[in-house]
Amino acid sequence: MRFWHLVIVVIAIVIGSTFRKNQKQEMSRKVVVIGGGLAGLCAALEARAAGAAVTIIEKEAKLGGNSAKASSGMNGALTAPQSALHIEDSVDLFMKDTLASGGGLCDENLVQTLVQESNDSIYWIEQQGVPLRSISQCGGHSKPRTHRIAQDSNGRTTPVGWGIMRTLQKKVQDDNITLMLSSSVAKLITHQDKVTGVLLQDNQLVEADSVILTSGGFAGKPKDKENTVLKEFAPEVTHLATTNGPWATGDGIKLGQDVGAAVKDMDKVQVHPTGFVDPNDPGADTKFLAPEALRAAGGILMNANGLRFTNELGRRDVVSNDIFQHCASANDASLAIAYLIMSEEAVNKYDRSSISFYEHKGLFHQLAGIEELAKYMALEPSILSKQFELYDQEAKTGGDQFGKSVFPSTLNNSMAYWVAKVTPSCHYTMGGLMIDDGARVLKEANMNQYTPISGLVLTTQTNTKYTGFFAAGEVTGGVHGRNRLAGNSLLECVVFGRIAGKNAAGRSH
Ligand SMILES: Cc1cc2nc3c(=O)[nH]c(=O)nc-3n(C[C@H](O)[C@H](O)[C@H](O)COP(=O)(O)OP(=O)(O)OC[C@H]3O[C@@H](n4cnc5c(N)ncnc54)[C@H](O)[C@@H]3O)c2cc1C
Repeated sequence: MRFWHLVIVVIAIVIGSTFRKNQKQEMSRKVVVIGGGLAGLCAALEARAAGAAVTIIEKEAKLGGNSAKASSGMNGALTAPQSALHIEDSVDLFMKDTLASGGGLCDENLVQTLVQESNDSIYWIEQQGVPLRSISQCGGHSKPRTHRIAQDSNGRTTPVGWGIMRTLQKKVQDDNITLMLSSSVAKLITHQDKVTGVLLQDNQLVEADSVILTSGGFAGKPKDKENTVLKEFAPEVTHLATTNGPWATGDGIKLGQDVGAAVKDMDKVQVHPTGFVDPNDPGADTKFLAPEALRAAGGILMNANGLRFTNELGRRDVVSNDIFQHCASANDASLAIAYLIMSEEAVNKYDRSSISFYEHKGLFHQLAGIEELAKYMALEPSILSKQFELYDQEAKTGGDQFGKSVFPSTLNNSMAYWVAKVTPSCHYTMGGLMIDDGARVLKEANMNQYTPISGLVLTTQTNTKYTGFFAAGEVTGGVHGRNRLAGNSLLECVVFGRIAGKNAAGRSH
């Protein structure tokens, strides 16, 4: 009897120590995430949940990146919020819209992953504590599927990007993820072609089993510095203003290319049709974005003659080109300003508290009726009333001269109008590092054949786990092709950020 007791105790000790050893091995898996935007935080949280020791390195003094600026929403098909609003959608339709917008340049494998994971991604964000219960139909979408945070019971709204980032940042802190702020990564360290760590600008070395690059795009305009990546790949848009923060300088593109990563669609820069022109600083290089959701609520665009000239819910590249064509300044054809006009119904549909915020910033002006609006635009009131009447009539028959088929609100006879001046501005870089559907960064092996840049392959008793070099979010290329659909970037960050985090921690192969 005593002998068997002894055997059981020895077995328990052996099992316990093996378990602790495995746990220690799991914990000692070091994952470094470069960039603290949405893709970075999603990657970090998933890697941590899979047992890795995670460090986020962020060059700014705070987390957020362009993700914190997002205002239109995040896409998802077949989601619970859609179902609550009786919106019928399908993954196939979502895929079709994304591919059509991408103009033949999308990586279909990546798009397949994006749309298939969209429902789970909306669910995951809601599970983190961010309800996404307001849904719009933005340009190029055949169904309402762009989710944002609805007004609270006091009529207040939290902008979607800021709301998501604030919540995830708290999770990151609660999960004991190490944060290195104001720390810029200058170089990736490799050993025998494997990425093994990063070197910071101050020469500090941070070693890692896996590195995840989530450093965002390259449409920013840093003060007193040239954006050399934008200049190299898309010189034709460098004269335009930008909606991006100054951090968006494409550091990740250079870091990746230095270790052999392949890039894709680098010249495809999305020019958003509606950057607000601030009357107090009309020439500012960085513009506040007038989100697409404003047009999705019924905002219309007019030229200086009081005429509509485009389908406001058309693809962004088409609407931007129409603004350049119909609203160009007489002195400078590359400078074009349109009027964005919203009726009271449209403002209520969008949400009044956000419009008040733009008013407070001096970007939207509220005017009492058509007379006042016409005075502001230096036009005869009859020109506007004729246009508004025509618009409402066309809405009733379900189609207009510019191909608009969705009319979210009426225009004529509104008690008040809100008007803003807007101009096309650099907004998003579709191109970037090539990845596969496991978020592994690819290099060209042979002509048009790509293979992951490897990390260490860790073989345990039970399986083989992959570590290595991953990327997610705007630093990557392939999901959006020639033109990104509104709401697909936040989704991409969540889908591929999470995949990168799980794979980097070795949870799945
Ligand atoms: C005004 C605006 C509104 C938008 N609205 C929407 C929307 O409604 N829906 C939508 O889907 N998309 C929207 N987008 C696009 C979307 O917000 C971004 O494409 C997306 O959030 C990018 O996320 P990210 O994590 O890849 O990069 P980011 O959020 O930009 O984060 C990258 C981070 O990496 C850091 N970094 C860069 N280089 C280094 C380095 N060398 N070392 C360390 N850190 C580094 C940066 O400082 C930054 O914090 C909007 C974009 C803008 C600008």
